[in-house]
Amino acid sequence: MKVMYSVADTQTYLQNLRVKSDMKIGFVPTMGALHDGHISLVKQSVEDNDFTVVSIFVNPRQFNDKSDFDNYPIDHEKDLEMLNKAGCDLVFSPSGNNIFENFDGFKMDFNGLDEIYEGEFRPGHFQGVVDIVYRLFEIVQPHKAYFGQKDFQQLAVIRLMTKTANFDIEIISCPIVRENSGLAMSSRNLRLSKEQFQSAANISKLLNYIAINLKVGDDTDSYSQYFIDEIEKISDMKAEYCVFCNTVSLDLIKKITKNSEIIVCVAVWCGKIRLIDNIILVF
Ligand code: AMP
Repeated sequence: MKVMYSVADTQTYLQNLRVKSDMKIGFVPTMGALHDGHISLVKQSVEDNDFTVVSIFVNPRQFNDKSDFDNYPIDHEKDLEMLNKAGCDLVFSPSGNNIFENFDGFKMDFNGLDEIYEGEFRPGHFQGVVDIVYRLFEIVQPHKAYFGQKDFQQLAVIRLMTKTANFDIEIISCPIVRENSGLAMSSRNLRLSKEQFQSAANISKLLNYIAINLKVGDDTDSYSQYFIDEIEKISDMKAEYCVFCNTVSLDLIKKITKNSEIIVCVAVWCGKIRLIDNIILVF
């Protein structure tokens, strides 16, 4: 496994690879502090492609909360070990802000996607995500790029950016990997206390409760309120939102109709740690 830190070297290396061989390149962008969720994306890429690139970069532009950025977990050695084991061919880990040199950002019409749900509570977050993924796509120019369903709205934003910027890259969505307790794996879980880690399992338990009970004809508002109230009962936890949306348009769904596919997206504070999760339901 190669590890590269320079933007120019990585670009040249991958350009040569693309020109000299007919290799299919798969790409997995990450912010490091890797867990089995990230590794599932890497393994999918290794299976689908001839060469897999993983980037590790804690992108300052996508943090709307400075203390979240300052406290974001980093474990470079362990990340490299996990990636090597998973079959990754090249790790690209740009240093500092070199990747944004002479780059103002990619301006696009978000069609309002950056103002709802995550966007409402994390102003500027999606522009930061678009900026880094746009730059990484320019440098790596993969055939396929892999993203987790856990960040469902991010996936929608990246699909839109890929189309707007005319990148010839297939965006692949991968399922959420969970702890045994059901808690969605996240780098931020490392910052939870033992008690918080246990309490946080209630997020997926409540999503499963909704999955079992919600049926055609039901109003979603009462389920949303139920989720928020149940989270509120747990010490140190507070729900920021619980929304029911169309999986394609992300429009809010108020009443469940026949033959519909919806996604329930939630954001919950566990002490000072903000966690997100979701579940897709088909009726
Ligand atoms: P991050 O390092 O948090 O920016 O995540 C990098 C990629 O891994 C994103 O596409 C995430 O959606 C994905 N990811 C994060 N957590 C999980 C998980 N529990 N299961 C599957 N994919 C995940």
